Amino acid sequence: MPLLARTIMTPLAIDVRRGAVADLAAILADGRISAGGDVAVVVGPGQAEKIVELIRPTLRSADIFTVTGGTLEAADDLGSKLRARSYDAVVGIGGGKTIDVAKYAATRRGLPMVSVATSLANDGIASPVASLITGGIKGSYGVHIPIAVIVDLDFVESGPDRYNRGGIGDVVSNISALADWELAREVRGEPVDGLAASLSRMAAEALICHPGDMSDDAFVTVLAEGLISSGLAMAVCGTSRPSSGGCHEIMHAIDAIFPGTASHGELAGLGALFCTFLRGDTVRLRQMSACLARHDLPRLPSDVGLSDEQFVEAVQFAPTTRPDRYTILEHLAMSPAQTRQRLADYAGAISDLD
Ligand SMILES: [Zn+2]
Repeated sequence: MPLLARTIMTPLAIDVRRGAVADLAAILADGRISAGGDVAVVVGPGQAEKIVELIRPTLRSADIFTVTGGTLEAADDLGSKLRARSYDAVVGIGGGKTIDVAKYAATRRGLPMVSVATSLANDGIASPVASLITGGIKGSYGVHIPIAVIVDLDFVESGPDRYNRGGIGDVVSNISALADWELAREVRGEPVDGLAASLSRMAAEALICHPGDMSDDAFVTVLAEGLISSGLAMAVCGTSRPSSGGCHEIMHAIDAIFPGTASHGELAGLGALFCTFLRGDTVRLRQMSACLARHDLPRLPSDVGLSDEQFVEAVQFAPTTRPDRYTILEHLAMSPAQTRQRLADYAGAISDLD
């Protein structure tokens, strides 16, 4: 009988709950990742003390490394320190920057990586991509997908609310990224991976339809699982296509031209809403706008402190951030005057929805 299936690399363990950091030793042992706790634990500067206090009693043979900055240099530096002895795995505990540094260093050393997320700002917690800064520019680097993904809801709850809400924008942007992928199939014959699309879409649909908010564990769990699904979607097809289209091109452009404007997820959500308007998809526009508004996420350039002219500049620059990616922005190839006009129409459409 022919084997008509494909094998997919996924994490061995996924655990979203309260108290996960304190239980790390047991999770590593149960998942057969490290029986004796011989792991390199990577933490960021902010939460290092609290995390070490929680894990030290049960992870006595672990070495702790503190990293700062989310840069390629920090990741290379960590990679060379990991040569000191043999480890069963690298465990990154923290927000996106710490996890990305740990992911990259682990991949370079050929070690499995355990992602322990203490915030839900973007879909990097389970993705095969590390976003690192080098020479002041943020780049995306392909890495191995984490061997385990753990989200500690106690840490998420105590983190900055605005930071975590960004993750909602990142997951909701999948809807726009998938529409761009479909467009690329129609116009350029680019193949769409149905499994990746399904994982990515279900994550976004679940969040759009969920009535809860960040004070509700059930909603935060769906957000965490949505971010993990988005990461798996990228791993399934080997590209960020299912979670990144024109929405992310706009985000990368704002990051490049006006650094520090807002978080990855906040800008991805805003970019996705604008791209959805450009597609003329009024049903999706209404759904996504309501979701972003419900969670107090930006929908207009002024919500992130950008003038209309600055946003137009970013939209014009956006296609150059991912030259090989065909999205609604490349499809329309708008002039600055056309972008200005469409942005004015967009602002009108959003205010009509409220
Ligand atoms: Zn993203």
